[in-house]
Amino acid sequence: MKRVSVLGSTGSIGVNTLDLVSRAPGDYEVVALTGGANVVLLAEQARRHDAALAVTAHEDRLDELRAALSGTGIEAAAGDAALCDAARRPADWIMSAIVGAAGLPPGLAALEQGTTLALANKESLVCAGPLMMARAAFHGATILPVDSEHSAVFQALVGEDISSVERLIITASGGAFRDWPLERLSQATAAEAATHPNWDMGQRITIDSASLFNKALELIEAKEFFGFAPSKIEALVHPESLMHALVGFNDGALMAHVGPPDMRHAIGYALHWPARRSIPVERLDLARIGQLTFRAPDEARYPALRLARAVMEEGGLSGAVFNAAKESALDAFIEGRIGFLDMSRVVEEVLTRLSDERLSVAAFDLDTILATDHLARTAAADIIGTLQR
Ligand code: NAD
Ligand code: MG
Repeated sequence: MKRVSVLGSTGSIGVNTLDLVSRAPGDYEVVALTGGANVVLLAEQARRHDAALAVTAHEDRLDELRAALSGTGIEAAAGDAALCDAARRPADWIMSAIVGAAGLPPGLAALEQGTTLALANKESLVCAGPLMMARAAFHGATILPVDSEHSAVFQALVGEDISSVERLIITASGGAFRDWPLERLSQATAAEAATHPNWDMGQRITIDSASLFNKALELIEAKEFFGFAPSKIEALVHPESLMHALVGFNDGALMAHVGPPDMRHAIGYALHWPARRSIPVERLDLARIGQLTFRAPDEARYPALRLARAVMEEGGLSGAVFNAAKESALDAFIEGRIGFLDMSRVVEEVLTRLSDERLSVAAFDLDTILATDHLARTAAADIIGTLQR
C-alpha cells in the first residue's frame, strides 16, 4: 500500500488526484487531505477515502469540519501550522496542489520527510526554487513535476544525457484572449479571462493563462527544476494544447510530448513513476485532429514573458517578488479593481521598486522569502491603489 497525502485536495488538481487514487483503492492508503474554505467537500473526500487526517487552512472553519467528520474517527485540524503538520505525517507520496505561495511552507515541510513530492504548486519553485531543490537533496526527497509542460519535459528526458540538451520549449495555448484585438484587452473582465479554450483548471491559473503569467511562472519553474540556463528555455504558442513541451538535443532532434489536455495524465505519471500505468484519458486520434499549429508569442500582447525573462536572469529573490506581485494583481483584477492589462504594469512596477531590497539580501531562507513576499504584496497594494478604477 502506498501512503498518499494530498495538499489542496479540494481544488482542480486535488480532485483529479483523488480520482486516480480511487480507481485502485487497494493500492493506496490516504493519510492527510487539506483544503481551504470548502470544508463540506474536504470532509466528504476524507470520508470517502477513509483519510487519517483532514485539515482546513481556515481556523474559523474547524468546528464545521469537526462536525462534518463526527463519528468517523478522522482527525480534524485547522490553520497554517496544521497544514505543515499534515505535510509531515509519514507518507510515501505527497501531492503539493495548494494554489499560490501558500503552498511553499507545506511543500518544504513535506520534503523534510525525504518522501516523493508531486509538485503542481509551481509558485513554490518560482519563489524558492534553490531552497526547494536544496531541501530535497538534503533529505533525500524526490520532486516530480506535475505541471503538464514540465512533466512532458521530464518524460522526454528519460534516458537522455542532460549535457546534450540544447533547449527546452514549453507550449502555451495563448489563453482566452489569444485572438482578441489588442485594443480590446484593456476591457476584458475576469469572467471572460476565466474560460480556457482547452483545459479545465482552477480559476486563478485559467486567468493566468489568458495573461500568459502562467507561462511566465512556468519558464521560471523550468529553469529552477531542470537547471538549464534561461537562454535555453523558450515558450511557443500552440493553440491546440496537445503538444505540451519539446526538448531539443545537440544532434538537432526534438523530442516532443503529445497527449490529451487532461491533467490526470501528468498527475498519473507522477503517481506511478517510474512505471507507466493505464490512465482513463482520451486517446488522441491525430488523423481526425489533422494539424497542430504553432506561433511565436507576441510580447506586446504578453509582457509577462518579458518580465519572466528578467526574473530568470536575476534569480535570487526576484521570483518571490514576481510571484507575490502577480498574486496581488490577480486578486485586484478578479475583484474588478484593476484592468486586465494593469496586472503586468503592477508586477513590473513592484519589480522596479523592490530591486534594492533584492540585491541587499544575503540569506535565501524561508523567513527571507516570506518577508520578501510580504514586501512585494505591500508595494503591489500601493500601486494598485493608484491604478484603481
Ligand atoms: P484550485 O484553486 O482549484 O485549488 C487550490 C487548492 O488549494 C484548494 O484545495 C484550495 O482550498 C486550497 N487553497 C487555496 N488557498 C489556500 C491557502 N491560502 N492555504 C491552504 N490551502 C489553500 O487550484 P488548482 O487549479 O488545482 O491549482 C493548484 C496548483 O496546481 C496551482 O499551483 C496551479 O498553478 C497548479 N497547476 C494546476 C493545473 C490545473 O490544471 N488546475 C495545472 C498545472 C498546475
Ligand atoms: Mg502548465
